[in-house]
Amino acid sequence: MIPFLNLQALNQRFEDEFQEVLRRVLSSGWYIHGEECGAFEAEFAAYCGVQHAVGVGNGLDALVLILRALLETGRLQPDDEVLVPGNTFIASALAVSACGLRVRLVEPELSRFNLDPQAVEAAIGERTRVILAVHLYGRMADMPALADIARRHGLLLLEDAAQAQGARLGARRAGAWGVAAGFSLFPGKPLGALGDGGVVTTDDSELALTIRSLQNYGAMIKYQHDRKGGNSRLDELQAAFLRIKLRCLDADNQARHAIALRYAQGLDQRVLCLPEIPAEVEIHSWHLYVIRSANRDALQQHLLKSGVQTLIHYPTPIHRQAAYRELGNLNLPITEMLSEQVLSLPIYPGLSAQQVDQVIEVCNSFAVNEPEFSV
Ligand SMILES: *Cc1c(COP(=O)(O)O)cnc(C)c1O
Repeated sequence: MIPFLNLQALNQRFEDEFQEVLRRVLSSGWYIHGEECGAFEAEFAAYCGVQHAVGVGNGLDALVLILRALLETGRLQPDDEVLVPGNTFIASALAVSACGLRVRLVEPELSRFNLDPQAVEAAIGERTRVILAVHLYGRMADMPALADIARRHGLLLLEDAAQAQGARLGARRAGAWGVAAGFSLFPGKPLGALGDGGVVTTDDSELALTIRSLQNYGAMIKYQHDRKGGNSRLDELQAAFLRIKLRCLDADNQARHAIALRYAQGLDQRVLCLPEIPAEVEIHSWHLYVIRSANRDALQQHLLKSGVQTLIHYPTPIHRQAAYRELGNLNLPITEMLSEQVLSLPIYPGLSAQQVDQVIEVCNSFAVNEPEFSV
């Protein structure tokens, strides 16, 4: 069986270093908000090319804290509208809803899975204040175009970079394009902890400080509470693990890129629609390698029977979820079509060329009996 993801093997690469770090943190007697978290924040900020990084509890919290800080500082008002891609993971929308803001779902570009700038511009209404760009599957959204739209319409541009640690467009990394960016450090993400974690990046000092207060019961000084904050922290042990893994992130992204290239060369493109390989100026973190098939469910069954595990990201669009029944009347044909056609193939450092070839062979053996794929 070729598993969809082998987290155990991914993390066991660092076993000796993790043991050393465990001893260090254990013996320090300091487990929350200490040197390791501070060092990770500094290293991650430098890596992304921004002034500030703030470690938080998870990726959803990272987005919620950014939006809450914008509300706290008066840059957003309750009921303001946020443009969110229709085909993203539901957390992008949940963050908006959790802050009393309105979700407006926008269609993606079919070829890149990311927000379609034209659809964004067309969706801007009276209450629209934010574009939440998601670098879905690890591919950078069209940030130059979105930044231009944001500037012309006076909107805030934010990034959901949960899947895009290390992705880059030109000289700028994911996390350095928007007013602020939220990253998840969930185990399965390109930079994953051994548990939950998240981080916010920003060049905006006021925003960073407000987030630090909001994540700490609304206090900058102990027992002096300026606002009704919450608790969302990246603990010392996770931060210490992440510092080790951060050093390997670029190499890991390169390893995933090599797998994507191999898929692109081997898979039958008459029947399967493959993700675009980005140009040289761009780095895709390849969190997911997502193909499209007109007969997706049968292809997935065929792969499973042949020992290849796959997943679907995501099978039910946000506006078709019970949680968002108020959006149920929306008509988002591209988002809906994608949910029926997408299939994520295994892609991770450690997946051998032989295994990739095996996945290719199984996909192509299915494709033999399929009509050509159009659209
Ligand atoms: C994983 C993910 C999140 C949420 O991150 P958690 O750490 O699981 O809270 C948000 N947005 C996207 C696009 C994600 O993939």
